[in-house]
Amino acid sequence: MKKLFASFTSALAIFAFSLPFSTSVKSAEFFTIGTGGATGVYFQVGNAICKMVAKLQSAEHGRKKGTDKAYRCAAPSSGGSTYNIGQIQQGEFQFGVAQSDWQYHAYNASKPDKVKPFKDLRAVFSAHPEPFQIIARKGSKIKDWKSLKGKKVNIGNPGSGQRGTFEVLMESHGVNKSYFGSTTELTSSEQSGALCDKKIDAFGYTVGVPNAGVAQSTDGCGAYIINLTTPQVKKLVADNPFYAFATIPKGTYKTSKKDVTTFGVMASVVTSASVSEEMVYNVVKAVFENLDDFKKQHPAFANLDPKKMIKDGLSAPLHPGAVKYYKEKGLM
Ligand code: GLU
Repeated sequence: MKKLFASFTSALAIFAFSLPFSTSVKSAEFFTIGTGGATGVYFQVGNAICKMVAKLQSAEHGRKKGTDKAYRCAAPSSGGSTYNIGQIQQGEFQFGVAQSDWQYHAYNASKPDKVKPFKDLRAVFSAHPEPFQIIARKGSKIKDWKSLKGKKVNIGNPGSGQRGTFEVLMESHGVNKSYFGSTTELTSSEQSGALCDKKIDAFGYTVGVPNAGVAQSTDGCGAYIINLTTPQVKKLVADNPFYAFATIPKGTYKTSKKDVTTFGVMASVVTSASVSEEMVYNVVKAVFENLDDFKKQHPAFANLDPKKMIKDGLSAPLHPGAVKYYKEKGLM
């Protein structure tokens, strides 16, 4: 026991000495970024941000420049977009990744049944595009929206962006859950396994491309993504600024024999007006000053363009801490 205690205290000492700011900074501030399922792209966004924040902190510490506050962050997996927005509103998360449609509806209080109105929601920047995808099981005979009728479909867990977007899609086609044979509420990390195990015939997922979760079912058990080009989808795109047509190029997954056309949104990083200007400024600075490194963190980030990141898919006002940085850098 004594030995155990001794090794525990020495481990603690090593840990304390290995913290680069433990002796020289005035204070350390901790924040959390809400993401999505562990096999999704939001998880990669959140963790890439934390990595860039740590990188900026150690660079500035070395040069004795910038903030004398040390920022520490964590980006745990979560239920997804609307869950993240709710947690930011409650002050549990300081940042979160959210689909542009749910950012819009939260700020404008336009779908209170799906996302709680949140006037203090603030945009930070947008990241990768997220096509809404229906992934069908090999042998399911699903080829379009119509042939989903009577099938076992995963509509996503409550709190996820895809769940809300799937509901919007059903509503726009004038149907409800009874259109399908049955529906499940599996999380994004459960749905691919369930598809390959034939527990479900299809699932809906709003996610960046490429993505490990989708690959698990396409490359893993021959599932494929269907086109979504009904007149109702076209109307959704025509009527809403946060939707656009999206293509999943052929070759993306093993079963991507042709380009797939669907509609999609942007992934965006959001925060609250009550988060400090200094914290948001530092997060934005960390990402934009290390953008080349950030882009390398996931293939879905390859085409990130600063000019688009500060404009596209942002319907809540930009947080003043972000505006400060964008103005300083001449981006605005
Ligand atoms: N768009 C999904 C959501 O809002 C998450 C996708 C991901 O995890 O990359 O829940």
